[in-house]
Amino acid sequence: MTLAHLLDGLRCSVCHTINALWLDPARTLIECRECGQCAHVTTDDGRAA
Ligand SMILES: [Zn+2]
Repeated sequence: MTLAHLLDGLRCSVCHTINALWLDPARTLIECRECGQCAHVTTDDGRAA
C-alpha cells in the first residue's frame, strides 16, 4: 500500500487553500482535502497516466 503524501506549498485552484493538496500515487490522483476537488495526474504528453 502506498500512502498519499502532501504536496507542500501548492494551492488548490478551486478553494485556494494552501497545503491541502495530496497526491495519491495508487490512483494517480491529486485531491484537495478542503473542498474535495480531484484531478488526475497527466504525463508530459498530456495523456492520462
Ligand atoms: Zn480545494
